[in-house]
Amino acid sequence: MTEFELIRQYFQRDAGPSWCRLGIGDDAAILRPPAQRELAICTDTLVAGRHFPQDTAAADIGWKALAVNLSDLAAMGAQPMGFLLNLTLPDNDPAFVAELARGMFELASTHDVALIGGDTTRGPMSLSVTAFGHVAIDRTLRRDAARVGDVIVVAGELGGAALALARGGAADPALRAYLDRPQPQIEAGLALVECGHAAIDISDGLAADLGHILTASGCGAQIDLAALPLAPQLADLADSEAMRLALHGGDDYALIATLSRRAWAALAERPCGWRCVGEIVEQPGLYGRAHDGSRQLIPATGYTHF
Ligand code: ADP
Ligand code: MG
Repeated sequence: MTEFELIRQYFQRDAGPSWCRLGIGDDAAILRPPAQRELAICTDTLVAGRHFPQDTAAADIGWKALAVNLSDLAAMGAQPMGFLLNLTLPDNDPAFVAELARGMFELASTHDVALIGGDTTRGPMSLSVTAFGHVAIDRTLRRDAARVGDVIVVAGELGGAALALARGGAADPALRAYLDRPQPQIEAGLALVECGHAAIDISDGLAADLGHILTASGCGAQIDLAALPLAPQLADLADSEAMRLALHGGDDYALIATLSRRAWAALAERPCGWRCVGEIVEQPGLYGRAHDGSRQLIPATGYTHF
């Protein structure tokens, strides 16, 4: 199968969305973005052995490559529209590509996002997705917008992916899904865009990612450890181990955000997927409050590449 046949067979779809005037097949895609909206655009690369274990199923790799990008759009409060796929493969393996495309389109169709182009090359396996979406003008949820007195909220579950990674082959399918099939919190991001201040997606652990908000916004935070939404599988672990995974484990793709107390009171009245876990304070640093009222400084450590 040639590169072009591969693309036509597995990546080209007949009817694209109306904003996509020209999709896969020409030198560039042509888009007509919605009027009076801003575009949010992001890219993330997945390298075999680093971002997913070598034994990960092709369909899960496809899902995750798109999911991590949709999670970034969710953290900006954007409505996802489409994506590009840059695929580097060690050899011509149509069965692998078919499965990869299946997993990717499974997630894409759930959120109504379209693949509009990409590039296909040979080399050590990696996938790079570039995703884009639209957001109301000047409403984006930025990292530098947290304010003292804000409530801190989380959407999604924490620690499941890190526990699955630690258990390796011994992780059952439900646990493994936290690692292989993260669920981008798009609805939660959209629910917050009218009333939120700052937001970020949790890819390197809550402590590290909330730390980015605190640094960018010039403030500190106090979180209530008992209020954190842990993946249910963490319930069997010792408290300290569960907290280590929830605060410092990577790959959760939950969202953490801040908003005024008044906005939270209004948002919390309807099912919104968000849970209050703490507040923004003036004193720098991240502090965790335990059951007994004691406070401890939480280091902003998480996964880093270098
Ligand atoms: P060019 O030589 O102009 O870069 P390519 O041969 O790389 O063109 O790509 C041909 C068409 O196929 C383009 O529209 C490109 O966006 C699309 N394409 C290539 N690889 C992929 C891929 N992995 N996923 C989706 N579209 C792809
Ligand atoms: Mg090309």
